[in-house]
Amino acid sequence: MLLYAYTYVGPEEIRRSVASFPAGTPITSRSDLETWLAANPDALAEGATYVVDLQGRLRLAPRRSEHVACAGGEEVLAAGELRFRRAGTTPCVAEVSNQSTGYCPDTDCWAAVALALGRAGVTAPPGFTHEVIFRRCERCGERNLVKEGWFVCVFCDADLPTGWNIAPRRGIQTSS
Ligand SMILES: [Zn+2]
Repeated sequence: MLLYAYTYVGPEEIRRSVASFPAGTPITSRSDLETWLAANPDALAEGATYVVDLQGRLRLAPRRSEHVACAGGEEVLAAGELRFRRAGTTPCVAEVSNQSTGYCPDTDCWAAVALALGRAGVTAPPGFTHEVIFRRCERCGERNLVKEGWFVCVFCDADLPTGWNIAPRRGIQTSS
């Protein structure tokens, strides 16, 4: 399976301001998740910030944390927002997105999210419940969030490319 490593593309002052913050908590088992949810019960109601790190691990941080802080300043395989719910006592994913303006990952980072959720013992939905399409305008250079399939730059009206083009990304071949 081909995954991609995304580099932080957000503002440098944000990266610097969170450089000493602890990275998100790695979640590699159901018990890791239960421990984290016990300490962060808001993740059930409000959601959490997540990244998938270069080791393919889900990392969680309280909602509104910067993704670059959650990632410890590193590249990520995926980033976005995640909300859990309980089905009986079992934690499940209620909502999950690739919404991260710090990393602007392509929607195909879902593959990394599904793998990481599987490792954490959480049943993954069939895909993102909310997908964000990030594109960089090749005329004015601004980053856009494409809404309703309208591939036109909101800053200068140029057409936006059909393929993801935010920044160079590194392909990583995995065996699983
Ligand atoms: Zn533009």
